[in-house]
Parts: sequence; structure tokens; C-alpha cells
Amino acid sequence: MSQTQVIKVSKDTIKKMKSFYERSLLNKQIPYTEFVAKSGTTTITAYTSGKVVFQGLEAEKIAAKWGAPSSNKTASTSKAKTTTSTALPDNFSQLSVLGSDEVGNGSYFGPVTVCAAYVEKTMVAKLKALGVRDSKELTDPQIRQLAAVIKELIPFRLLIVEPEKYNQIQPKYNAVHMKVALHNQAIHLLLDDIAPVKPEAILIDQFTPESNYKKYVRSEKNQVREKLYFITKGEQYHVAVAAASIISRAAFLDELEKESQELGLKVPSGAGSTADQIAAKVLKKGGIDLLSKYAKLHFANTEKAKKIAAK
Ligand code: MN
Repeated sequence: MSQTQVIKVSKDTIKKMKSFYERSLLNKQIPYTEFVAKSGTTTITAYTSGKVVFQGLEAEKIAAKWGAPSSNKTASTSKAKTTTSTALPDNFSQLSVLGSDEVGNGSYFGPVTVCAAYVEKTMVAKLKALGVRDSKELTDPQIRQLAAVIKELIPFRLLIVEPEKYNQIQPKYNAVHMKVALHNQAIHLLLDDIAPVKPEAILIDQFTPESNYKKYVRSEKNQVREKLYFITKGEQYHVAVAAASIISRAAFLDELEKESQELGLKVPSGAGSTADQIAAKVLKKGGIDLLSKYAKLHFANTEKAKKIAAK
């Protein structure tokens, strides 16, 4: 039986642990973690808060080396909610999984796009053979071409929040809350579409700690809460997340292109200095009203663009 053990340690102990597990560190970037390591069958996740989570066959034994378990109270209340969602089931990549991912959150121009895609186990090999994988490893033309193929093959739901809408919602929903609402809604709609078929698991490409996700989801009308798993780089764990990321990226690229055509300016992805320069041109053309249709105004780029435009 797999176990989960949580301990709380000092910063110093985390340092010691990190060097102790130096050769077993996993190259994972998870928000708020100091490191992730794998010791035998047990995964060790150390958080910046000092919390260390051990998961696996020998979790208790290994955890005992470093400290006493967190008080029963905190461990049991937090565990009741999180245990099922932190470690993925065995053979996960071969299960029938509904995956979701989003694109555009870090880009000043363009929308936020979120896609949920359902890949039945019988389709896993076929999608992999087509080259469905991490969209960051694919060129833009490949992404567009693959997205078109995937959309013909599997059920999906795509939600697009254009900047104008984003700027209206953003004061009420911070960026994380908005993403939670979008993932939840895309998943909910797709579950409806495929019913009575049910996925064996739902994998969300992780963008916030699980507890945060669950907190925000509570304010949504249709709450999907069962069989949820969260992991960063989700596309490495199931092709459904890779498919979702390709579809959302293709939609994001299409929207950026539409923006470029409408503005007669090449609108960049990202939030670097090119975005400032282009935004300044948009401001000169039509002021903040025009810019609000194309860019996420709460980014620092807006102020920089105003300064450039005023010169
Ligand atoms: Mn993602």
C-alpha cells in the first residue's frame, strides 16, 4: 500500500535533505517547492514552507529519518482532501484520461485559451504516433497542423477569453482564479459531452497548488471535484494534456494573428520589451480603449507603453 507522510522541518533540514538526495533529485519545477526527489519507490516533495511530503511504499520509514509527522489534526484534515490527487495511479499514461491545459496567461497580447480534451485508452498510441507531445517542443506550423488533426479525432472543449473580456473580469477574478474557473468549466462541459462515458482520471496541468485550485473552485456553479489530479508538465504524464495544450496553443496563435491583422502591426507573444513597443503604437493609434481590446491591461507593460507613447 502506498503511504503519504507529511513532516514539517527547518530550512536547514531542507538543505541537508537536498544534499542527501542530491543524486535522486527529479528535474521537476513545481511551484513553491525546494526540491522533488525519488528515493526507491518514495517521492519526496519539499516545500518552501518547510512542509515535506513523502509518498510511496516506504513513506513513513523515510520520513521518520527527518522528523516527526505533522500533528494528526493538520495531517488528517489536509490529507483527506489531497491524498487522492497528488500521486498518479499506476500505468497512468495508458488510462482513459481527460486532460486540461491553458495558454496565454503570460502573454500581454492575445487571449487566455483553455482546452479540455478526452483521450480514451484506445487512442493513446495513435495520438502519440501522430506526434502529439509537449507543445513547447513543436513549431507553430506543427502546432496548427496537429491541432486540426486532433480536433477531428477526440472530444474536446475550448474556451477563449479575449482581452476585452479578460479586462472586464480581471478586477474581480485574479489570474489564478480565472484559470481555475476556466479549467473547471471546460472540464465540466466536456464531461457532459462524453457522458455516459466517464474518464478514469482528470489531469490538470498544474498552475497553482492543489489547495488553491480547490478553494477557488468552490465559488463556481458547476464544480468538478472527482478524480482530479494535478501535476506540472502534465503533458509528460498523459497525451490528453499534450492534446489539450496543442489545441489551446493553436487557438492562441490564431487569435494573435487576428489581432495583428486588425491592428496592422505584428503583435508578439510574451510580455517583453517588444510588447511594450507595439502597445505604445496601439496607444498612439487609439488610446487605452483600443489597447484594451488586444492586451491584458493589468500587466506592467501598460505603464511602460504609456511612457514610451508619451515621448
Ligand atoms: Mn500548462
